[in-house]
Amino acid sequence: MTTYGAICSVWRNRRSQNARLANRDSDITRRRRMLECDEVREHKIAPIFPPMCEQSNRPEEPAQREIRRAVLSQAAPGIEPIVERMTFEAVKRCWCGGRLDPWENFGVYRRCSSCGCKAVEFRPTWASLEIFYREYYWREYQAAYHCPPIEERYERDMTDRIPQYLDWMRQLCPPPARLLEIGCGNGRLLREASLAGYDASASEMDPRVAAWVREKTGLPVFVGTLPPLSEGTFQLIVAIDVLEHVPDPRAFVREIRARLDPRGRVLLHCPVIDSDEAARTSRDVFNPLSHLWVHTTESLMRLWREAGFRLRWMGRLFEMPCWGAEP
Ligand SMILES: [Zn+2]
Repeated sequence: MTTYGAICSVWRNRRSQNARLANRDSDITRRRRMLECDEVREHKIAPIFPPMCEQSNRPEEPAQREIRRAVLSQAAPGIEPIVERMTFEAVKRCWCGGRLDPWENFGVYRRCSSCGCKAVEFRPTWASLEIFYREYYWREYQAAYHCPPIEERYERDMTDRIPQYLDWMRQLCPPPARLLEIGCGNGRLLREASLAGYDASASEMDPRVAAWVREKTGLPVFVGTLPPLSEGTFQLIVAIDVLEHVPDPRAFVREIRARLDPRGRVLLHCPVIDSDEAARTSRDVFNPLSHLWVHTTESLMRLWREAGFRLRWMGRLFEMPCWGAEP
C-alpha cells in the first residue's frame, strides 16, 4: 500500500469536514478577489485567467493533514507554512484519461498505464495553486530550494540559458514577430527578445514579480496564467518550465492554440523522463508541490499531437529536451 493508500483509510466525518473546507475556500476566494481588485485598480491589467481545472475529489481534513505531511517528506525544509495553507485534491486519472498505477520510485507520484506520464496522486487545488504562485513561488519557495532571488537570476540567466533560447526562437519564428512568454519569471528572456526585435509581452502569476519585470523592462506583463483572448494572437509563444506545473495540460495546450496565429510556433521546454533509472537520478524533478506531471516523450508527443500540433526537435538544455510545436 502506498503512503496515500494508507491516508485514504483514515477519511471520516465527511459532512462536517466538507463544511470546514467550504469555509476555508471561501476565505481563499475572498482573498483572491481582493488581490484581483487591487491589481486591476493599480496596474489596469486584465483579471486573472479563470481556473483551468475542476475542483473535485477533495479529501477530508484529517486526510489533508496526512497529505501535507507526505508532501513535506519529499519537499525542501522550510516550506511548512506554505503547505499548511494549501488544500489538496485527489488526481484519479492521467491527463490522457489513462489509469494511474502505483509507482515505486517516489511515493507521492503514480505512473500512467497508457502514456507513462507520472502524476502526483494528490495535488493542490486551483485556489491553493493560485495563492502559491501569486505569493510564494518566486520568493520563499525558491529560497527553500536554494535558488537565487529573481534579481540575481536576471543577471545569471544571461550566461547559461538565454542565448540558447533566443537561438531556438529565431529558428522557429525569427523577428519581427509578436511574442508571448508564458510565466516570464525574472523577465530577462523577455527583455533580450525585445532587444532582438520581437514585439514581446508576457504573463506572470505573481503580481509583485510582474510589476518588477514591467519596471525593469518597460514591457507589458499580464498578471495571470495567460493574457485574455481580447489581446489577439501571437506568432511565437514560449513556455519554458511551465507545462509540468499546470493542473490540466490538455486545457493549457488548447488555450495556447487559441492565442496562436494560424501559422504560429510554440517553443516548449519542460522535464521529460523516460525511464525509471533516469527518474532516480533526477530526484529534483519530482517535486510534488509544483511539478504535477512529469512527462515521458510518449506522453508529451501525444498531448501536442492530439491538439493538432507537430513537434520539432530543437535540442537539449539542462539535460531536458526542447521542442518546437507548430499547428
Ligand atoms: Zn497518460
